[in-house]
Amino acid sequence: MTVKLNNKQKAALTRLFRAFKPGHIIYPGVLIRELNVEMKAAYQILNLLEGNGYLKAFYEIYCPYESKSTGIVYENILDLIGDDLIKDCPECGQSVNIQENNILIYKMLNQVNIIYDE
Ligand SMILES: [Zn+2]
Repeated sequence: MTVKLNNKQKAALTRLFRAFKPGHIIYPGVLIRELNVEMKAAYQILNLLEGNGYLKAFYEIYCPYESKSTGIVYENILDLIGDDLIKDCPECGQSVNIQENNILIYKMLNQVNIIYDE
């Protein structure tokens, strides 16, 4: 896996993770926006940090009718391939297919200090 960041992106990454504290939820969109990277690169960075024990991945179910989170999260991807794929949105009550309407988000477990040698 290769993620290449320029100096400006490295500085943004360091700044971002200095602000994230244990317990914080990190949305890939934040990295995409702050680092100006593609979604794939954002997930590669988050996946790398997860592999090293700094983050934990969750699947958050969003409501396609309201375009926002339902507040329902799953830890295990196997929950998304079970036989009960339709859940009612707690907000609007509409039926949501959890397999089609989830995003991978990350919870900060341990503070990570990202430092680069110049
Ligand atoms: Zn809803």
